[in-house]
Amino acid sequence: MPVGLPQRHLMNALGRVVSACAAPILAASVAVLSLPAPSIAQVKVNPDVAALARLPVVDSTSLRAVVGRLAGKSGKLLAAFVTPPRPIALPVFSGNIRYTTRALPPIQEVNGASRIGHFSLITMRSFAEKIAGWVNGYHVGYWPEEKGHLRSDAYGNPEGFIEVTPQNQDLRLSQHFRLRDFLTHDQEDVWPKYIVLREPLIDKLELVIQDLEDRGIPAAQMRVLSGFRTPQYNLALGDASGRARESRHQFGDAADVYIDANGDGRMDDLNGDGRVNFSDTRVILAAVERIERRYPDLVGGVGLYHSSGPHGPFAHIDVRGSRARWVRGARLARSHRRKKSSTTIASSGRSHSSGASSSGSAR
Ligand SMILES: [Zn+2]
Repeated sequence: MPVGLPQRHLMNALGRVVSACAAPILAASVAVLSLPAPSIAQVKVNPDVAALARLPVVDSTSLRAVVGRLAGKSGKLLAAFVTPPRPIALPVFSGNIRYTTRALPPIQEVNGASRIGHFSLITMRSFAEKIAGWVNGYHVGYWPEEKGHLRSDAYGNPEGFIEVTPQNQDLRLSQHFRLRDFLTHDQEDVWPKYIVLREPLIDKLELVIQDLEDRGIPAAQMRVLSGFRTPQYNLALGDASGRARESRHQFGDAADVYIDANGDGRMDDLNGDGRVNFSDTRVILAAVERIERRYPDLVGGVGLYHSSGPHGPFAHIDVRGSRARWVRGARLARSHRRKKSSTTIASSGRSHSSGASSSGSAR
C-alpha cells in the first residue's frame, strides 16, 4: 500500500476512529475488542483497529477532542474524508465474526462537531473500486504509480474517491468551500462524479483566507478555478511545462485560486495599486509564506500565473509536503510550446523574488 504524508496517516487514523463511533456496526466491533481477548483463540487485530480499541470512544468528550482535531488548524473544516476500513475478521471462540463497511453511509453528519456548521464524515470509495480507468462509469484514467512512475510517497495512488452527486455537490467542506468547487471540469452529463481531495488543502486555503482578512484584504470570495483533475483530464489538458503527468491536482491537494470579492468574475486588486495584474498574485504568495512558517506540515507548492483568461491572474496552492515555488505566464507560453520539454521556465522561476525555485513538479 502506498505510504502518504504522515499527516495523511494521522487524518485517516482519526477518521477511522470517528467513523467507527458514528457507525453502529463498527461501534459493535469496538465493544468486542474492548472485552478481554478470548483465551482459546489468537485474535489478530489490524493495528488501526487496535488503536481504535484503546480509545475511550464511547466518551463524548473524547469524541469531541478527536473531532476538534478534524476541524483542522483553521478550525473551519466541516468534513473529514474516511477510507472504508478494510474488512475485519475476528476469530471469536469459534468461527469468525466478519465486520465490513457495507453499513457505512457515504455521508454521515456528526452532531455538535463544529460551531460553524454541520460536520460531515464522508466515506470514500476505495481506490480498489477503480476498474481500469473508470470508477462507476466516470472516466478517471491512471495515476502515475499505476503506470510505474512513483517519484516519492507523496505521488502514490490516492486512498479513495469521494462520490459527488447532483444532490450532495453543495455539501460544505469548510466555511468557504463546497464539494462542487473541486470537481474536474469535464464529463458534464456523467453522474455520479468522483473526486480525490485531501483535508489539509482545504485547511490551508481557509488559513490563507483568514490571513488576508486579518490584514484587511477581503478574501472570503476565494474562487477555485481548478481543484481535482483526473489523470485523464490532466493529460488531455496538456501542460506547457511538460510536467502534467505529475500535477498535484491529480492527488487532491492542489487548487488554482483567485479572489473575487467584488464579484466581477476576475481577480481583485489585492495590492491596492489600482490595477489588476500579476502583482496581485504575490499578495496570495505572501499569505501562503506566513501560513507555511506557522504550520510547517502544510508546506507545499505555490505557482503564480499571469492572466490566461477572463478570471485574470491566479495562484496555485498545494500541500505536497515539500516546498516548491514557480512562476508561469502568458508571456512564456509560446516559447514553452516550441520547446516543450525544455527547462526555460527556470529563468522565470529564478527571477522570483521570494527565493523561488523552478520546481519540475509544477502545477
Ligand atoms: Zn494548479
